[in-house]
Amino acid sequence: MSSRQGQEARELSRYFELLFDKAKEQRSPRRALEAEARRQIRLIAATAGIPAVPPPDLRKLAACLGVSIRETSLAMKGRVIQDTLTTAIEIEKTLDESEKTFVLAHEIAHLILENLVPTPHPSIRSAIGTFSYTEIERLCDICAEELLLPLEWLRDWVDPRVPSFTVVEEVAHISRCQIETAASVIIKNGLWSAKLYWCSWKNGATIVDRSCPPDEPAVLASVRLPLPRVTQASLPSRVVQRDVAVEFGDQRCRYHVEWFIFSREKALALLY
Ligand SMILES: [Zn+2]
Repeated sequence: MSSRQGQEARELSRYFELLFDKAKEQRSPRRALEAEARRQIRLIAATAGIPAVPPPDLRKLAACLGVSIRETSLAMKGRVIQDTLTTAIEIEKTLDESEKTFVLAHEIAHLILENLVPTPHPSIRSAIGTFSYTEIERLCDICAEELLLPLEWLRDWVDPRVPSFTVVEEVAHISRCQIETAASVIIKNGLWSAKLYWCSWKNGATIVDRSCPPDEPAVLASVRLPLPRVTQASLPSRVVQRDVAVEFGDQRCRYHVEWFIFSREKALALLY
């Protein structure tokens, strides 16, 4: 590791220690562990010479961990295969490139957090030992997001700017991740005061499938978003609706709603 990388690793370490302390202050063991997992991933990436600026060289990181990567036919998106001598990450070959990148980052997170490969920094394996499968998956997603969209870089990039899919598209393009990944990471880390809905159309109405931050299914079912005009000719397209009424069951609130429409089966709505 060069002295510049060493300096960067120390600065990052300090940054994540502060995050960690803040989470502890808030008495949220879950958030404290998330911060610790991010810190571990970031330190190992820095040791491998990968700066906290996207896009990360994930193949270089895997090589530094002594792990090979292969694309093949799988029943799932990705997995880790280990025998006594080798460790490999397998990725489903039909995924699109941005999805493959996320899967690779997620599987690298499994290797590091679950201590499946030797790393130069202490593992948090013991802390997650009692975690359920779902919780470990969630933690690996958070670490994949940290690799692809380093929080500190992301904060500098989006913070002073008004919520917009223009910014989301820039972030997704630089990080080589999907639009929805970039949008949800920005929102779930509180960088914008906004809400993201995954929508589809049915019988002339908008159906909300899920949201970030997440809502209960009953709440999602009560959301009525104003239907944007969609022309098949111009997909994917963006539509901005200013100061429109959105219904949440009996309540109505006014928002700016920006749509990113992939097809009639899939659209993202950004409310702010
Ligand atoms: Zn996983």
